[in-house]
Amino acid sequence: DAYYGFSRWGKGHFSVDPDGALCVHPMADARKIRLTDVLEEARQMGLSAPLTIRVQDLLRRRVVELNEAFGAAIEAEQYEGRYQGVFPIKVNQLREVVDEILDAGKPWHFGLEAGSKPELLIALAMLQTKNALLVCNGYKDADYIRLAMLGTRLGKKVVVVIEQPSEADMIIQLSRETGVTPIIGLRLKLSTTGEGRWSTSSGDHAKFGLSAPELVSVVKKLRRAGLKDFIQLVHFHIGSQVPSIITLKKAVVEAARFYCELHRMGLPMKYLDCGGGLGIDYDGSRSNFDSSANYSLQEYARDMVFNIKSVCESSEVPVPDIVTESGRALVALHSILIVEVVDNIAKNDEPADISKRKRKPREPQVLKDLREILDGDEHWTPLERFHDAQQKKEEAQSLFSLGYLDLESRAETERLYWEICRRLRTATSVRGYVPEELAELNATLAEQYVCNFSVFQSLLDHWALDQLFPIAPIHRLDEEPTVEATLVDITCDSDGKVNQFIDLEDVKQSLRLHPLEPGKPYHLGVFLVGAYQDIMGDLHNLFGRVNEVHVFLEDDEEDGYYIEETISGFTTDEVLGFIQHKGSDLIRQMKKQIDRATRNDQVKPREGVRMLSLYTDLIGEKTYLKSPGQQKARRRRK
Ligand code: PLP
Repeated sequence: DAYYGFSRWGKGHFSVDPDGALCVHPMADARKIRLTDVLEEARQMGLSAPLTIRVQDLLRRRVVELNEAFGAAIEAEQYEGRYQGVFPIKVNQLREVVDEILDAGKPWHFGLEAGSKPELLIALAMLQTKNALLVCNGYKDADYIRLAMLGTRLGKKVVVVIEQPSEADMIIQLSRETGVTPIIGLRLKLSTTGEGRWSTSSGDHAKFGLSAPELVSVVKKLRRAGLKDFIQLVHFHIGSQVPSIITLKKAVVEAARFYCELHRMGLPMKYLDCGGGLGIDYDGSRSNFDSSANYSLQEYARDMVFNIKSVCESSEVPVPDIVTESGRALVALHSILIVEVVDNIAKNDEPADISKRKRKPREPQVLKDLREILDGDEHWTPLERFHDAQQKKEEAQSLFSLGYLDLESRAETERLYWEICRRLRTATSVRGYVPEELAELNATLAEQYVCNFSVFQSLLDHWALDQLFPIAPIHRLDEEPTVEATLVDITCDSDGKVNQFIDLEDVKQSLRLHPLEPGKPYHLGVFLVGAYQDIMGDLHNLFGRVNEVHVFLEDDEEDGYYIEETISGFTTDEVLGFIQHKGSDLIRQMKKQIDRATRNDQVKPREGVRMLSLYTDLIGEKTYLKSPGQQKARRRRK
């Protein structure tokens, strides 16, 4: 736990068995799921890492927690309205995820939020909970609004949120044409801006929402069109992952003021929709760092309820029902990405020739100098030795470029330089204060663990926004980790790496892992990846969606779980389809070339058959690397 912080960010859902295997406790009770067991069972089903494990009970648990938190806050404050949450399906549209959330949320009439036509198509079909809200956000055309009205006609509580003044005109026109009007919501452009990575969702330059003058003129327009009675909801969203509760409090106070003013203007206001933003404490620091949140779910609920009540009381306006569109907070925790480390690139670990006997008599001066720095003189501080070594390394590089140093000597200068760095790292690791340049040696000397996955497919926010995710081995946790490492993926892109890791105080540049053991797999888990990562991943280098298993707890057994659903990752053939290639066409073109080579006696017929079968097989297989075990199986099959 000291290295990986399970108890900090895991909210009581993780434990380590005596044999070092990591377990998930979906209900935060004794019942647990050993991740290594799930991985092994999936492997036997033909689904190896990279693998997404969805712990469905964790989803249910979060839905219950959110609703109960608001329930408790409402009771404590004797709040006279209700809580009516909706799940924004953009955060994770997977059918099983949406299904689970709707099912778990039934007792509270939990609804859905859609941000586009395709999402609305899903939401209309899937949301059948009585009295649940279906909130429609995002850019809209006439078809989007028609679709929403279709929901209204079927008796659903559909809210069309006006984000741009032009949408009011469309609603007016279509409701005249069809005689159907949905509930109308108004999205505010608050002056309270968020902070963190998604802070541009509010403020004067935000993409969405109505400024105060626009709000007034939209209301007038709807009133003139006779639609005033349908305006019932006020909406705001100041960005996802808001790290500080103070920002959320300010925003809800401002929005509640708008709510009261609209009520005073004679509108039949009923709902205040606080949007998303409820943060996840990815690094477990409970701070207002970008990857953290300095508040709990319960505090958030209490603050929303309390502030709305206070504003309404002072304006003498009846309180609204509170809607939230919390996505990340519901789904981040349930999904764990398992990746296998397939290799390590140890940087600069060639030993330098430090034995004095073997030295050449006429060794270049720069080498002699580096040896002196290596042997060290107690009058020099470690930082001085580091700076001197840097200077000598650069000198050696210039001498080499100018032709005064041969390759052997240049290689030796570099070996000596890295040996000096290693010694300095060891020497400084026991001291209290370490100067920044020396502290960075850990990262500079870190090994690179090559992981069989694509950052662009599975951890896009890490690449795009430096979002941090907790990462830890899922086994060998009873062993002291001894290797400082960063992670690199298997794409041919130097950005395909993870070299920033969670830490209590700051971001760590490397992660302490276990040494790889020949012939034994080493698996890492990337945690809290259930929000946004699935759908935003792309096909860089044509690495496709990863395998997936959905696990559930058995009700009565302590160690019991079952895999209910498996989703096989993309095959190469499927990925090729997205870029207008057809596997069958490629195979045909290869066959022609192999036939030609056979006719010309360049290739023997038997070899030609083998070549074609290898090509054809690989088109039908997954895009990721095969583990040595899978490679053996292929050879046996042949
Ligand atoms: N509602 C709206 C309008 C959004 O744009 C978003 C995402 O940014 C959300 C809800 C979900 O936010 P979160 O995942 O922070 O709960």
